[in-house]
Order: sequence, then C-alpha cells, then structure tokens
Amino acid sequence: MIYFIGAGPGDVELITVKGQRLLKSCDVVVYAGSLVNPQILKQAKHGAKIYNSASMNLEEIIDVMKKAFENGQDVARLHTGDPSIYGAIREQMEALEGLNIPYEVIPGVSSFAASSAVLKRELTVPGKSQTVILTRAEGRTPVPEEENLKALAQHKATMVIFLSVDKIEKIAGQLAEAYGSHTPAAVVYKATWDDQKIVCGTLADIAAKVKKEGINKTALILVGDFLGDEYEVSCLYDKHFSHGYR
Ligand code: SAH
Repeated sequence: MIYFIGAGPGDVELITVKGQRLLKSCDVVVYAGSLVNPQILKQAKHGAKIYNSASMNLEEIIDVMKKAFENGQDVARLHTGDPSIYGAIREQMEALEGLNIPYEVIPGVSSFAASSAVLKRELTVPGKSQTVILTRAEGRTPVPEEENLKALAQHKATMVIFLSVDKIEKIAGQLAEAYGSHTPAAVVYKATWDDQKIVCGTLADIAAKVKKEGINKTALILVGDFLGDEYEVSCLYDKHFSHGYR
C-alpha cells in the first residue's frame, strides 16, 4: 500500500496520529525535501529506506513506489501541509491507478491553517468574511484567466496566497485596487518552524516590510479584514511574537 501523508507545516508534532502511525510502520519513505521538515524522518521506522523527492521526477518516484509494492513493502509518501493543496498528488495517484497499485491519502495540517494559528486569527470572522480563497499567482504552473487576482479580489473575502511571496509587490498593488490599500495583510514565513517570521502591515506597506526581512519563499500572504481592528497594535510584536509562540 502507498500512503500519501500530509506531514504538516513544519512543527514535527503537527502530523496526524494516523499519519505518524503509518510513517512508523512503512519500509520506504519518499519525502518532499524542499519543504517537509527533515526532523520528521526521525519518526520513520528504523532501517526504512528514505528518498528525497526534491531530486526525483515523477517517473522515478513512481518507480520507487512500484518496486516497493512488488516487494510487499508499504510506502509513506510525505507531502508538506495537506497533500490536496498544491501537492501535485493527482498525477501520482493516476499513475498508481494505471499500475493497479492501491493507495490511501491521509490529510494533514495545511500551512494556511498553521498560519492562522500563529497569527491567532480566525479566517472566517462573522461580519468580516465568511469565505476563504486559497490561491496563487501564476508561476511555472499557469492559473486560469478567470481566477486572476483582480477578479478574486472583487469579493473582498479572506484571501490566502501560496507560492507567490516573491511577487508580493505586484500582488499587493493589484489587491489594493479592490480591497483598498488600508486593508490589513500579513506574511507568515515558515509557519511553526523554529525560524518562523511574521510580518504584518497593510496592502500599502507589506511589500516593503517583507523585502526588508529578506523573505522570498516558503511564505503565505494573508489578506483581509479578518486580520482585525486591533491588528496593527498586536502585530507590533512582529518577530518577537513568533519566537514567543514557541
Ligand atoms: N501542501 C502545502 C502547500 C504546498 S505549496 C500546504 O498544504 O501547506 C508550497 C507553498 O506552501 C509555499 O510556497 C508556501 O507558500 C506555502 N507553505 C508551505 N509550508 C509553509 C509554512 N510552514 N509556512 C508558510 N508557508 C508555507
């Protein structure tokens, strides 16, 4: 059996009980090394064969899974956060189906949930927003034209933007047109990791603050009034706040 497991956002305790139990029992582990905290591999079975998928293509990953399956071994395929969000698991699941290899998906704590936790904010505050948009800016993977940021911004919903912090300047500018430039915005870098950073501001100044912190990857942009009225005050803690959290 192949188990796709959401390994959580970083903190090694943020894997589910089920995910951990399966990780402990699998003979082969394939983990997404660019984002999964390697410390979580300490939870793997002693002697398990461990592969970092960062340097593997789809074919190579499927090949490892197929060989393990043929040898009667179980595989833990560790994805960061929850595998259903930008996890590229669809192509792996389809390949396994084509080979008649059984698999299961174990959900995980996505980085958007971890980020709202460390910000101590509710994404759906009554009277502010009851809708959460999870999206990204276009990168190597295209985004359908109907889902462009300006169109999504019209709803003024809570918005969480993945994979895009390197484009914060352009994004904040586009969003300010619909949300208004005084709308609160936050960037959470490596939520729940030891080197987590939280940057708070508004759509007008968030880009400059993020640049100053040197953040250009592994971060989420969160935008919307859910960040709250006294938000600017509480965010004065900034980085100290994030360290205090742990
Ligand atoms: N499946 C993952 C997302 C994978 S896409 C999940 O559910 O979280 C990778 C992107 O997720 C990164 O570019 C970043 O935008 C975000 N991300 C992943 N882990 C993060 C973390 N600990 N803190 C902040 N953002 C994170």
